[in-house]
Amino acid sequence: MLTKQSKILKSGSKKIANKIIKKITGVSPNTKHLPDHHFKVLKVKRGVAGLGLFAGENIKKGEIIIEYIGNILNKEEADKKTTSQYLFEVTRNKTIDGTPRWNVARYCNHACEEAANAESEIKKGRVFIKAIKNIKEGEEICYDYGEEFVKEHIGHHGCRCVAKNHSYGALSSK
Ligand SMILES: [Zn+2]
Repeated sequence: MLTKQSKILKSGSKKIANKIIKKITGVSPNTKHLPDHHFKVLKVKRGVAGLGLFAGENIKKGEIIIEYIGNILNKEEADKKTTSQYLFEVTRNKTIDGTPRWNVARYCNHACEEAANAESEIKKGRVFIKAIKNIKEGEEICYDYGEEFVKEHIGHHGCRCVAKNHSYGALSSK
C-alpha cells in the first residue's frame, strides 16, 4: 500500500518544513501565500530540456525553493520501479517516487555542476531543493541529479543542459 506524502504533508506540513528550513538557513520563510510544498513563487514552462521549473521571483543563494514530494516506497517497491526517472532515494529503505504531477519539483531539470543553480538536500527524511547561487526571476532552476542518474538516463542520448563541460563524462546532445 502506497503512502501518499501529500496527505501526510497536509496537516501542519509547512510548520514542520519551516522549522527545518530555519535550522538550515537561519531564517523563517514567509510561505503563507504559496501552495503546499512551494517555498518560492515558481512557474512551470517549456525550457531547454522539455518542461522546466522557473523562478517566479528573485531567490537568494541558500534559500529553499521547493520540497520534492511523492509516494513513499520501501526498498522492495522501489526495486520494482527500475524505469522511473523520478525516484529519489532518501535512505536505503525509503524512496520518494516523485512521478505524480502534484510533485511540482519533478519539473526541475538536471544540469551538470557547471550550470546548476540549485541542489537537493535531505533533511530528516525529506528532500528540499535549495539555491546554491542567486537566481533571478525568470531563470530556469536546475540541479545536478548525480552520477548514477546521468549514466542511466542521460548518457545514452547526451545531456541537454547549458554547461560547456558536462559532468560524469556525459556528452552534449547538440
Ligand atoms: Zn550537462
